[in-house]
Amino acid sequence: MDLSAFDEVLSAQPPRFTPAEASRIAEVTFGVGGDARSLGSERDQTFLLEGGGQVSIMKVSNSAESPEMLDMEALAAIHALAVDASLPIALPLVAPGADADAVGAAAFRVHIEAEDGSHFVRMYDVLPGTASVEESSLSDAALRYWGETVARLGKALRGFHHAAADRVMLWDVQHAPLLRALIPSIEEQRTRDMVARVLDRFDEVVAPVWPSLRAQVLHGDLVNDNVLVDGDGFIRGIIDFGDMSHTALVTDLVSVLGSALSNRSGPELIRAARIVVDGFQGVVPLEADELRVLGELVAARTCANIAISSWRAARHEEEAELTMEDVPKALGLVENLEAIGYDEMARQFGGGPPSRGVAFEDLRSRRQAALGSALAPLSYDKPLHIVRGDGPWLFDADGARYLDAYNNVPVVGHCHPRVTEAIVRQARTLNTNTRYLHETVVELAERLIATMPDGLDTVIFVNSGSEANDLAWRLATTATGNSGGVCTDFGYHGVSEAVIALSPESWPSGRKPEHIETFPPPDACRGEHMDAAGFTAALERLAAGGRGLAATYLDGILTSDGILDLEPAFVQDILRRTREAGGLWVADEVQGGYGRTGDALWSFERFGIVPDFVTLGKPMGNGHPVAAVITRSDIVDRFAETADYFSTFGGNPVAAAAALAVLDVVEDERIMQNAAAVGSTLREGLRALMDAHPSIGDVRGMGLADAVEFVTDRESRERNPTLAERVVNGLRERGVLVGTTGAQGNTLKIRPPLVFGSAEADLLVRTLDAVLTDPS
Ligand code: PMP
Repeated sequence: MDLSAFDEVLSAQPPRFTPAEASRIAEVTFGVGGDARSLGSERDQTFLLEGGGQVSIMKVSNSAESPEMLDMEALAAIHALAVDASLPIALPLVAPGADADAVGAAAFRVHIEAEDGSHFVRMYDVLPGTASVEESSLSDAALRYWGETVARLGKALRGFHHAAADRVMLWDVQHAPLLRALIPSIEEQRTRDMVARVLDRFDEVVAPVWPSLRAQVLHGDLVNDNVLVDGDGFIRGIIDFGDMSHTALVTDLVSVLGSALSNRSGPELIRAARIVVDGFQGVVPLEADELRVLGELVAARTCANIAISSWRAARHEEEAELTMEDVPKALGLVENLEAIGYDEMARQFGGGPPSRGVAFEDLRSRRQAALGSALAPLSYDKPLHIVRGDGPWLFDADGARYLDAYNNVPVVGHCHPRVTEAIVRQARTLNTNTRYLHETVVELAERLIATMPDGLDTVIFVNSGSEANDLAWRLATTATGNSGGVCTDFGYHGVSEAVIALSPESWPSGRKPEHIETFPPPDACRGEHMDAAGFTAALERLAAGGRGLAATYLDGILTSDGILDLEPAFVQDILRRTREAGGLWVADEVQGGYGRTGDALWSFERFGIVPDFVTLGKPMGNGHPVAAVITRSDIVDRFAETADYFSTFGGNPVAAAAALAVLDVVEDERIMQNAAAVGSTLREGLRALMDAHPSIGDVRGMGLADAVEFVTDRESRERNPTLAERVVNGLRERGVLVGTTGAQGNTLKIRPPLVFGSAEADLLVRTLDAVLTDPS
């Protein structure tokens, strides 16, 4: 860039009309009378005209100014006001006799010839407020309003374009690298070093992402000199569109931050910055990259001020003092930003990965100290620090990728955009509770009921699978008047007092609660417990203890018992026996629901039964906490005779929006069909490994709920949990995540997100083959 051309525009002689001359110019150009008072300006001249009850602003342009720039200013102001009439922007007035339809933006300027050359004259309405505010005195409300106003201005200019906007200006932060040429003009070495450091950081961190940042035409210079504020510091006027250019959306926010953060440091700087950013994001949410580079951009913009002022001061010594007036403040701001650190700024704005720079062991001991000893231990011998998910993939803090064949919660894939956007959009709009009318929760209930057999007509929303099973227990005990429960030998149904009793997998010290009996589920691999004898014995034990049956709980895929495929006749048989004993049936779909089995949305459908309760959880919100009990209205009515039910978060609009999005994606992406097809490919591949690996005793499953059972040998079928444990850790080492299941823990639990494809299934099989070949 030819820097002297840049200087020409900057230092071209501004017009020097006296107030009396200005009054005359106003009269002859726009027919506006009154006394003129100079408001001072750098490159052009601005006058306030008062008289005859009318007040106007007149701008007389620099003779070097191009008419295209002036036209762009006029058109941008008109565009922005047309989009958002509440923006405090002054409209240019049409010159008397000019026909805006015919001549366009030229109608807003009148050409005059004077001794020093030609000028354009423009006239504006006056906006309220005063210029120049002490930024460090701005209240929090004013800071937020500055952020909000600049976002609204940018939004209003989104659809605006003008060829003149594609220009290079040194104070447009996108051109920060050009500032290097000005560094020699900076007097102090310390300042030269600082500017160089900021520009190095710009090259390293900002330049690579700049081309992908959202860009548009922007005001370009929203600093305190170019806004009018009221007594409380709120922006009441946006003036001087003379620095517009096509640049990144955040550029105007950067100007505001540069202005608002002056004279603030440390925690107070961050606090003020976050409030400005909150104001902006209330109107236009920022993207992670935009938030991540805000600190660097504020520093670069401030350095532009330092470098340009120093350069001009060196060239025009007579004006040096005035030119350098704001430089100490700018230096202070960059020093304060550097003291905080750019990564920390990014983190504070929410744009940096929180994990960056966190040492694994440090985090592990902080977890232990803060979350306590009762929390389930970290998975794997070498635990994972996962920071990001995408479809069936997880990524750790070092960027390593893992195939997720373990997590069933993100049923439509980690961070599915439909679900995350639904959550964000609803959270931005409203999040309350079911004591207010809201469509989403009603629609969700209706959608769920429509997937259920006739009779299951009522939905109660809660927040977790545990709560759903807990509520089902309350409803069942109330409806039956009984207090006994039955579940499988190693089942799991949740954490609350009532349902931990129904979770032998987690019984404290393995001690069976008095009111619960268990039965061994059929084990087709060994041909054991194939009939209902075990179930009948459980009922008899319950009766012998003097208890009636309130409910039988069954996870349709027996996740904790080892993932077992039950025969419909067996389930129908034990359901009949449950009813004969006066009990109700709880189909726990927390694991098996949402298409996991591949043949139906709900796993109980495989058995041709109609349960009394269906409990939903985990996949329902793809990770957002939302759960439900679906049951019959007569059961709920019995409960309502003595109680009502309200859960503060249960069925809140955000949770409901997430759950609706999940249902939509399950349908749109044919998730269930994928589970069926990929599940059978996967089992085929796993079974093919049995020839080479006699340690595999059984491969079974339905859809994408699959199990690989390890035995010491196929004759004795003795369970081999040691090998299972080694395989799980070996797979983790090779980037594939699975877990173990079953009372002995000798079975691989494979239940990936249902977007798992056949390539992923193949990778899982190949990796398992490799681990079994070399399980060291
Ligand atoms: N039911 C089953 C079958 C489960 O597997 C679980 C959780 N593993 C629950 C209920 C409890 O769900 P949550 O952890 O969401 O409370």
